[in-house]
Amino acid sequence: MRPNLILLGAPGSGKGTQANRLVSEFGYKHLSTGDLLRAEIAKESDLGQRVKGVLDRGDLVDDNMVLELLKVNCDLENASHIFDGFPRNNEQARMLDEVVLGDSTALAIYFELDLGVLKDRLVNRRTCKDCGVIYNLLFNAPKTEGVCDSCGGTNLEHRKDDNEETVSNRLQVFKDQVEPILAHYEAKGTLRRVDASQKPGEVFTEVEAVLGN
Ligand code: AMP
Repeated sequence: MRPNLILLGAPGSGKGTQANRLVSEFGYKHLSTGDLLRAEIAKESDLGQRVKGVLDRGDLVDDNMVLELLKVNCDLENASHIFDGFPRNNEQARMLDEVVLGDSTALAIYFELDLGVLKDRLVNRRTCKDCGVIYNLLFNAPKTEGVCDSCGGTNLEHRKDDNEETVSNRLQVFKDQVEPILAHYEAKGTLRRVDASQKPGEVFTEVEAVLGN
């Protein structure tokens, strides 16, 4: 089996786009804690109702709540996983190692990028609700406005937390928390870095190199 991957990077650094490609080319199972939380909110579950305000502000949800959601969606015996959006702090990094991964191997990939460019990326991000393809209205718009190039769907979603104010808070939260997480994986010898300022195809080539392809 391929190594599990922990994708680290600011919101908008391209983790979701790379994860989609890793799923389609190598059969990875993609676990995005942000997606899992938004699904709970859409279902109006108990958990969803408790976390809705937190996501709207761009703050972090309680560690144990996210861990539970992650655990019930993991199937490490049958697939290599991509962890996207988890860990967000050192306690979550410890939980991921000890409670979720155990003896399974994992590499952490950091999508390095100047945070100054991210506001534009995020505010202009649109995601196809039908097939998950991610667009940017400035740099990578769909050919026909409002229509997904890939599946023809017309549900191009603008995430509620991709507005200027929430984005600023999410980037600040990221800045405050990323260094210790990088240090955690650096110390374990499992940290790899890719240059996320490149085009998606070029970033993918670097990701493949990390996987040893
Ligand atoms: P994302 O889709 O990864 O940008 O996450 C969207 C939002 O979901 C974040 O701003 C947090 O409110 C919440 N969230 C996602 N993952 C986590 C996590 N590992 N720990 C705490 N909150 C999270």
